[in-house]
Amino acid sequence: MCFFVAPRSPAPVQSAPLKMSSQSIAVVGGGITGLAAAHHFASKNRPVRLFEASGRTGGSIRSERTPEGWLIETGPNTVLDKTDEFKRYLGIPALARDRQPPDPLAKNRFIVRNSRLMALPVSALGAITTRIVSFKLKRRIVRDFFFSRPRNRTEDLPLSELAREHYGDEFVDYGLNPMVAGIYAGDPGKLSARHAMPFIWEAERTHGSIVRGQLAQARARRKAGIPKATMLSFKNGLQELPDALAAQLPAPAIETGARVESISRMPARDESGPRWLLRWTRARDGVAQTEIFSKVLLTIPAHALARLPVAPDADRPDAFHTPLSQLAGIVSPPLASLFLGYRRGQIAHPLDGFGALVPELEKLPFLGVLFSGSLFPGRTPPGHVALTVMIGGTRQPGLANLGEQQLVDLVSPPLEKLLGIDGAPVFQKLTAHEHAIPQYNLGHERHLALIDGFERAHPGLCIAGNVRDGIAVPACIASGVNRAEAML
Ligand SMILES: Cc1cc2nc3c(=O)[nH]c(=O)nc-3n(C[C@H](O)[C@H](O)[C@H](O)COP(=O)(O)OP(=O)(O)OC[C@H]3O[C@@H](n4cnc5c(N)ncnc54)[C@H](O)[C@@H]3O)c2cc1C
Repeated sequence: MCFFVAPRSPAPVQSAPLKMSSQSIAVVGGGITGLAAAHHFASKNRPVRLFEASGRTGGSIRSERTPEGWLIETGPNTVLDKTDEFKRYLGIPALARDRQPPDPLAKNRFIVRNSRLMALPVSALGAITTRIVSFKLKRRIVRDFFFSRPRNRTEDLPLSELAREHYGDEFVDYGLNPMVAGIYAGDPGKLSARHAMPFIWEAERTHGSIVRGQLAQARARRKAGIPKATMLSFKNGLQELPDALAAQLPAPAIETGARVESISRMPARDESGPRWLLRWTRARDGVAQTEIFSKVLLTIPAHALARLPVAPDADRPDAFHTPLSQLAGIVSPPLASLFLGYRRGQIAHPLDGFGALVPELEKLPFLGVLFSGSLFPGRTPPGHVALTVMIGGTRQPGLANLGEQQLVDLVSPPLEKLLGIDGAPVFQKLTAHEHAIPQYNLGHERHLALIDGFERAHPGLCIAGNVRDGIAVPACIASGVNRAEAML
């Protein structure tokens, strides 16, 4: 355990008077997890305050509409209507009105193989006849389907090792590797099979064959009346989701431009347990603020949790330490999202699909490209198309730090070859995420145990979000709601 004096103990220049809101709950972080949690507390009539360091809510989710008519998703581009908690939000009138299904052609997905775009099969017959994979791999999948026996592993292993045991190198290189780049911007040789893709772990445990196990999981969902998850967005982009939740919170609940600097324990007044003093800095004037809460839900990313000073005694600021410092071991690699707009006539490819993923063996300077202008209507000026290129991740972290024009120059030649592009983009916009997606690498259970131990040692403090409960937006929403419910 790393109990050391925090270098960032707050030293306020000017301090506002202590505010007492001792029965209320603080939510730290105004991404989708924090908003879902705050929304849940408010729906149970619990006074709640949400502190967000930046000037806006939504965290990684951000959509920008330009005057020319481009709609740019700087973070996630689509979500699946998974988890009951998320599905309930889809009934919020503004979201129900603006919900957009993707273009039916979005079911087409491409992969780069031998420097060419190849369409992935979309039916069982297509899977049998496709020339993307070798006959040897097809035979191996069939053999595994019929002859693999359920396997209850006691030891976790890298995702790529588990997949290799079933299907061999070709599947790992041209199936798993690009899929993991598309989901985690990660490396299947490092990600934990148990934590990063629990449905694969479970499929093997129950059925042996991963394909058979997944078919059984789908059958069980159908039997339970759970419809197949579908992809969606909203007319003005995914930003509508955090905006809709924020709009339902009472106005004083949300404090943007409010960075929480530390948390310290106050003596209990009665048997209801300790209270927690939050120190936060107001961005607009740098004034340090303090407020007291009965409970605090932390929904900030792993690297921010790792740096958060916590003191067991508010009267002894020298006792600040960073009990979650080991969460710095959760790698969250940088990722650049490069939005490129073209006139329709500049691109020969019909862009009739979701986009293309790039296996590492293809040695291209990007992980994948989304056909973002074709996915949903109304995202480009008339007569134009748009691509979103994902660059960096654990595969090429250094590339994510390059400047906008450097990246455009780097990715343009291979994109031109793949898609038949003629000329430079007419619009470009780079968004760089310094810490994009937390990697549930081998050994992730140590981080989960640290979080559990932290909560036991600090009654009233709780942690939710993509550090522990899954990285997809619906999983973050479920995490916020369920952890909030457990605190009531
Ligand atoms: C480029 C990219 C593409 C993605 N694509 C998809 C996708 O297609 N589909 C999908 O389902 N998911 C996708 N994800 C994952 C998903 O978007 C995230 O896991 C999810 O949005 C995380 O939400 P969160 O609220 O837990 O964290 P965040 O969104 O990171 O929010 C945390 C908030 O805490 C704030 N904060 C940090 N420190 C402090 C502090 N000390 N005090 C106050 N506030 C603080 C931050 O400013 C931030 O707003 C993608 C993620 C990225 C980055």
